[in-house]
Amino acid sequence: MSYYKKLSFTQKILVSMLLGAALGIILNNINIYHILINQYLSNGVFEVLGKLFVNSLKMLVVPLVFCSITVGITSLGNLSLMGRIGFKAILIYLLTTAVAISLALICASVIKPGQGLEISNSIQFTAKEAPSLASVLISIVPSNPILAMAEGEMLQIILFAIILGIAITITGTKAEAFKKGIVSLNDIMMNMVSIIMKFAPIGVFCLIAKTFATQGIDMIVPLLSYFITVSLVLLLHVFLTYSAFLKFIGNVSPFLFFKKMRTAIVFAFSTASSNATIPVTLNTVEKKLGVDKSVASFTVPLGATINMDGTAIMQGVATVFIASVYMIDLTIIDYLTVILTATLASIGTAGVPGVGLIMLTMVLTQVGLPVEGVALIIGIDRLLDMMRTAVNITGDSMVSLITSKSEKSFNLNIFRDPKAGL
Ligand code: ASP
Repeated sequence: MSYYKKLSFTQKILVSMLLGAALGIILNNINIYHILINQYLSNGVFEVLGKLFVNSLKMLVVPLVFCSITVGITSLGNLSLMGRIGFKAILIYLLTTAVAISLALICASVIKPGQGLEISNSIQFTAKEAPSLASVLISIVPSNPILAMAEGEMLQIILFAIILGIAITITGTKAEAFKKGIVSLNDIMMNMVSIIMKFAPIGVFCLIAKTFATQGIDMIVPLLSYFITVSLVLLLHVFLTYSAFLKFIGNVSPFLFFKKMRTAIVFAFSTASSNATIPVTLNTVEKKLGVDKSVASFTVPLGATINMDGTAIMQGVATVFIASVYMIDLTIIDYLTVILTATLASIGTAGVPGVGLIMLTMVLTQVGLPVEGVALIIGIDRLLDMMRTAVNITGDSMVSLITSKSEKSFNLNIFRDPKAGL
């Protein structure tokens, strides 16, 4: 116990994750006590404590995103600067997502996951309808901002906060009192994040233990080639694409970047939700990476909502996999359509567990593949969801750093300081 107390916060989180995974796998394999374990542990203690933890994180997301974007915009004090930062961030978000999906399509075409796999007729899938592109675009503007907040509609909240920030800037001194109030609320929210973080080791342990106890790892076996291809492309994208951006454009050490991202990555992995991880990502990007608050507070929530490289990778590999199982040949036009639709779909994918799979139906429909194909991969999606969410938030943080660097507002001393933000 005293040894545990001496560990740093990140080490505690990593230990919790490993212990949770080990216990979960053991529990999944104890057949005789299966019902008891399910009732009292998986769907009992782990479920309750895990959900409590995720809910506490989610509780902070809406007020935090609202305050941090408004504060971020007002602290820029200059509307053209805001436009420039927004433009740069969105451009790199779209670019990295297009690279991610292209990498996925290339690797999947070479590895050919799904070849020789038999389709089982017993698998049924009723597709939840993916929203159309037009409805995604129309729904960016909230008709009622309070409703948007109550329902956690991130794009709508972001848009409202941006316009509010702009209006505060235009109003000038008359809005000073309100501005001070919202800055103070933002600081309070960040302290609430610190309070919730104290419970993170327990929360992470329970979330991981439940996932592994209920899912097990046996179900991966028949879909091993699909699972390995997605995992491989996720790793390639992180270590090749992100490292290249960090090294050649950001001019910073990718190694140090990944080291500092560890805690946020574990959170994304445990919760499988970019949104629920926003408080941790924001904290990491500002306090550990040294990205200026005005940039981080805008790019991180925006990235968590519209930038999903990991999800796009899963969609690319899944499309090739499903086409191959159904023995349908994809043409070059199909590949280009997948790149375009998956990049746009990632904007409409909410940062919550499992949505990537629903948006996959949109990609499949565009290239004329049967949406029932989703049923083939649904069983192992949770584990992949955890991994792709970790990639999603790593991408958000990388873009935030590059944008801040290009605006000369990046603090290299914080980035280099191993103790920063601890
Ligand atoms: N869970 C992912 C995220 O929150 C979205 C998805 O791919 O389902 O980033």
